[in-house]
Amino acid sequence: MNAKFLFIGSLNDFLNYKQKGKTLEVTFSGNPGIKDIIESLGVPHVEIQLIKVNSIPVDFSYHIRNTDKVEIFPFSSGVVPSEKDRPSFILDVHLGKLARYLRMMGFDSMYRNDFSDPELVTLSCKENRILLTRDIGILKHGCLRYGYWVRATVALEQAKEVASHYNLCTSVLPFSLCMECNSSLLKVNKSQIEEKIPPLTRKYYDSYSQCVNCHKIYWQGSHFERMNNLLKQICPQLN
Ligand SMILES: [Zn+2]
Repeated sequence: MNAKFLFIGSLNDFLNYKQKGKTLEVTFSGNPGIKDIIESLGVPHVEIQLIKVNSIPVDFSYHIRNTDKVEIFPFSSGVVPSEKDRPSFILDVHLGKLARYLRMMGFDSMYRNDFSDPELVTLSCKENRILLTRDIGILKHGCLRYGYWVRATVALEQAKEVASHYNLCTSVLPFSLCMECNSSLLKVNKSQIEEKIPPLTRKYYDSYSQCVNCHKIYWQGSHFERMNNLLKQICPQLN
């Protein structure tokens, strides 16, 4: 028995160059689940918005029949958990720099360089965090509802890609989260932290924030300018 599969738009990113844009013929026996076949072709379910079989929408519980014609459509933009005001993320171990950029933009981004795959999946499912990864395999885990395969390989490009996909630039809250540990920053009086800042900094800057967790101190000095420049690169509309 066989069925025909056509992946639309960005879902072709998961196919090899011979398959892109082509109708793929799949041979099978029995009546396998559509999710299994789609994922065996390399496409994770979290990036799929709609599946049509013989022009009729079906869900992932559908089982393939002989001569079915399947079309698979991607989300045109990222799906954000509806129960949250702002999207929050959990990032795979190789995306540390991207996590820092997202924190810089004020988006809760959980990251550790030693998370295991099951930990990433469990936290994403339990806390409705969008799982960002460069590892397609992890996105095929059944419980995942929110996930995205980051296409770019350079951190700044990744930040632009994720910001655009999830429309983050309209709700940036710069410097509200600690870039090191993802906790909140609070304004502090200079007098409270005076002994912790270098003398020249103390002389030139009056406005300071401190992380409630790791106590790192932030001020509007040269690294603030650097971060502002990065922000404008990630979100050109902020210029
Ligand atoms: Zn911190």
